[in-house]
Amino acid sequence: MKLKYTRYETCKFCGNNFLLTHGSRKFCPPVKNYDGIHHNHNCKTAFNNLKGKAKRDKTKLIADLQYQNWFGLNQLFTNNNIIVREADLRLAGIHLESFIITQTSGTTNEEVKCYIEYGLIKLNENKFKIIKHGLQF
Ligand SMILES: [Zn+2]
Repeated sequence: MKLKYTRYETCKFCGNNFLLTHGSRKFCPPVKNYDGIHHNHNCKTAFNNLKGKAKRDKTKLIADLQYQNWFGLNQLFTNNNIIVREADLRLAGIHLESFIITQTSGTTNEEVKCYIEYGLIKLNENKFKIIKHGLQF
């Protein structure tokens, strides 16, 4: 009997070679639990689970950082255009470099670094103005 498929592919997850049984397989065929000891193994599922975990870890890191910035600004904000020192921003746990976007104020043409609904405008070497803008979540 002639084998229909004679090409081997390298598994994207474990690096083992496997016989390609149809055109686009990137992972070993799933291994069924056959001896009551070993668990089923599926390289495609394992790969996608790791990919999903990496994404969740990254998005959590970003969300935590943005929340920390928002929380600190929310603590310091008492009224619009309040002036704070850079040291106070840092003490409040704000990572100044981790803003979401930069906008230009329509009225004063100043650069505004945005942290969710708060914005920071740098006035001089160590003073910032906190504004609250329209972006709400
Ligand atoms: Zn594999």
